[in-house]
Amino acid sequence: MSLSVHDRIELKPKDSCSTSLPEGPWEFDAAPGYGPGASQADPTPDRTVRPGQLPQLYRELDDDVHARIRAAKETLGEKLVILGHFYQRDEVVQYADFVGDSFQLANAALTKPEAETIVFCGVHFMAETADILSSAEQRVILPNLAAGCSMADMADEESVEEAWEDIAEVYGFDPEDPQPDAEGKLPVIPVTYMNSSAALKAFCGRHGGIVCTSSNAATVLEWAFARAHRVLFFPDQHLGRNTAKAMGVPLEQMPMWNPRQPLGGNSEQDLLQGKVLLWHGFCSVHRRFTVDQIEQARTQHPGVRVIVHPECPMPVVDAADAAGSTDAIQKFIAASAPGDTIAVGTEINMVNRLAAEYPDRTIFCLDPVICPCSTMYRIHPGYLAWVLDELVAGRVENQIAVESDVAVEAKVALDRMLAAKPR
Ligand code: SF4
Repeated sequence: MSLSVHDRIELKPKDSCSTSLPEGPWEFDAAPGYGPGASQADPTPDRTVRPGQLPQLYRELDDDVHARIRAAKETLGEKLVILGHFYQRDEVVQYADFVGDSFQLANAALTKPEAETIVFCGVHFMAETADILSSAEQRVILPNLAAGCSMADMADEESVEEAWEDIAEVYGFDPEDPQPDAEGKLPVIPVTYMNSSAALKAFCGRHGGIVCTSSNAATVLEWAFARAHRVLFFPDQHLGRNTAKAMGVPLEQMPMWNPRQPLGGNSEQDLLQGKVLLWHGFCSVHRRFTVDQIEQARTQHPGVRVIVHPECPMPVVDAADAAGSTDAIQKFIAASAPGDTIAVGTEINMVNRLAAEYPDRTIFCLDPVICPCSTMYRIHPGYLAWVLDELVAGRVENQIAVESDVAVEAKVALDRMLAAKPR
């Protein structure tokens, strides 16, 4: 895990795409609702959707914003821990006590029990997971509630419940109480990617299912296949397909479930032959990477090695030299040698940070145009300064609090993941 980033990092965009988006985060502050891709169905603690309104002052601070953040951080001291996701912009990440992927960060917060407030500079589902895993004495704040994940929003609880009932009818089981067959296996187990709402993790918890990350997806699928004939995998079709294919599952046994179509757009026969039912979801950042970009990188940089995230489409993963989680990408680059050239298919802020960390290598993003996570981008330093100033004043803005019954069931699915071990 990368820890303790306190220095401002000089970016080296060079061949890579821009970290900026055409519009500032204010453009997404749909008052009083959430912005698009912001997990809008998830309620705030009082069960209403009511993000705090960023005062105008914080939109106009310019460089003063950094002095405010530093002063508030100093005042709050050990009572505060700031978490920054790998994909977060550097102006914000520089204040993070821990930098990592969503699961690493949730666990990192556990190492700071004295911190009564966890400020999660990531997106909504990450803050939810931190709230589920943190102690009852800790609260979690997401500086801008409009920072959601468009992929997580592609599978909502209602659509998954409906799909489960349809699937139960096809496979002939009671959706509330599936029973193992003579082989001791269940007909189907739900598997949700970490990038999903707490409600879906809870769905998995109460239906014998499990959570996975991009690091342990193969281990989790093995766990599931030891207990069931097939899995329903949501929300990311690409992670599901890439992982199952690498495990030897034929593509014809991976029907796609499109929630807008009857039976997900499949025939009963397709579903009966299916082993991995893939939800029709994707990451808007990782689906931008293409085989053409890889070919271009190979032409322009002979000897380049290409590593991509498994949320990329299958042809891209197949054309790359390697595929892996953010942690695996970091390790791949750490294991490279000075002078090496590496093209990376993942979010630009992380790629630029790696390029700055290894200036003796040529590291660039495969997408030459634009590939920041537009929802993570909504955590502007102005929001961080505002929530910290409010904490100093004894007020709590933008708390993410998962309802206790949802948290209990979601934790069951998370605990199954933690207990799953590679064979
Ligand atoms: S990079 Fe993709 S999956 Fe990750 S938070 Fe952004 S939209 Fe969601």
